[in-house]
Amino acid sequence: MTNDQTIVALATPTGTGAIGIIRLSGPEAITIANSVFKGKDLTRQASHTIHFGSIADGDMLLDEVLVSLFIAPRSYTKENVVEISCHGSAYIIESIIKLLIKKGARSAKAGEFTLRAFLNGQLDLSQAEAVADLIASNSKASQQVALNQLRGGFSNQLQALRDQLVQFASLIELELDFAEEDVEFANRDQLKKLINEINRVIGSLIRSFELGNAIKQGVNTVIAGRPNAGKSTLLNALLNEERAIVSHIPGTTRDTIEEVLNIQGINFRLIDTAGIREATDTIEQIGVQRTMEKISQSALLIYVYDASEMTEKDLNQDIESLQKPGINMLLVANKIDLLNGAPILLYFPAYGFSNLISISAKEKLHIDDLKSSIYNAAIKSQLNDDETLVTNIRHLEALQKTEDALSRVLYGMDSVTSDFLAMDIKQALHYLGEITGAVTTDDLLENIFSKFCIGK
Ligand code: GDP
Repeated sequence: MTNDQTIVALATPTGTGAIGIIRLSGPEAITIANSVFKGKDLTRQASHTIHFGSIADGDMLLDEVLVSLFIAPRSYTKENVVEISCHGSAYIIESIIKLLIKKGARSAKAGEFTLRAFLNGQLDLSQAEAVADLIASNSKASQQVALNQLRGGFSNQLQALRDQLVQFASLIELELDFAEEDVEFANRDQLKKLINEINRVIGSLIRSFELGNAIKQGVNTVIAGRPNAGKSTLLNALLNEERAIVSHIPGTTRDTIEEVLNIQGINFRLIDTAGIREATDTIEQIGVQRTMEKISQSALLIYVYDASEMTEKDLNQDIESLQKPGINMLLVANKIDLLNGAPILLYFPAYGFSNLISISAKEKLHIDDLKSSIYNAAIKSQLNDDETLVTNIRHLEALQKTEDALSRVLYGMDSVTSDFLAMDIKQALHYLGEITGAVTTDDLLENIFSKFCIGK
């Protein structure tokens, strides 16, 4: 990878807009821009200044523009950067980019600006990835998570722990040089302590992936309940459309239906399922089995029951069979319009469920409250302000591999020779380094940055 070339790309979306911003980065960014700019001599201006003028190809005027200068290393890429704000016509933008290429710049590849920022030490790898997440963020939660990662998030923490582990690795390497003398430079108790500390941090990061991923990709949410409880009606009320088939005959929603509901920017993938009950015919039995499968794969379970008909015994039975560790359950008492003021809480004195809400799906009562409850149960109650979440599958895999390598170190500490210990520690260091970018390969970089858009 050579950074002696100056790259150019449109930084704003393609298509017509009020303004288009063309970005140049590299050693010749300022001289190339200056060669087509009519106005002040850009090579003599200070960093972080903006200049009005025009862009011309020889005698032919292309546009009136504003040019912003960022002189190395005070720029996003730590190289000379010029941003040309022109009028947002596709024709003008293309003409200016072509002209800049004629003058010596080359088209930037996808993610190349951010790649340079990484290679020049402006960002570590997980921060560079956070840039992509931030641009893609579509909710307060996903924006916060990406911003936190961009600001250093867990990679700072991991880097500090990795540095300590590097120290131990070198002490153990030293032991190898003195193998005959049977000396121990690396204090095993301290090493154990450090590994336990790293495992604690890594463990909580690994666990955070579930929520991080939910924020980024959506929350699998199952709607379950007995036939006729009102699941399909509820789904329609939530989606505000007539999607699922509603009928009076119990057990008609035989297969599962998936719909996406957006609450405060988070996508909830709602899965309406066949009713839970002792199935009498085979088709329904398959449906019931599928319900249980779906529930075990979901992050949130909305259990709906008919508050006007359900007995306490049946309700207790359902809740007991559905409540599994790791499953977040929201209880929804439906059909309160049929209660005529009968007190609904009578049905579940034994359960201290705070996640209970009573609604009428048919009359659309308390549907907005239900939406808030869904959001709170899946996201808000789990999200601490300063918590760092892992949202990236690459990070998750590297963390898991680090954990494996470290458990081999712990396991072998008292039994294996220093050379094996050194090998396992090196592996753990390698995987930790892959997260922050202390260890990279061209393939890895290519893989990450090719997913960016051109101009980022
Ligand atoms: P599912 O089998 O759980 O999907 O139940 P459905 O959504 O098909 O509803 C079964 C029946 O209950 C239908 O006749 C609905 O109109 C009715 N229903 C659903 N929700 C309510 C409600 O809140 N109040 C009343 N009165 N009827 C409801």
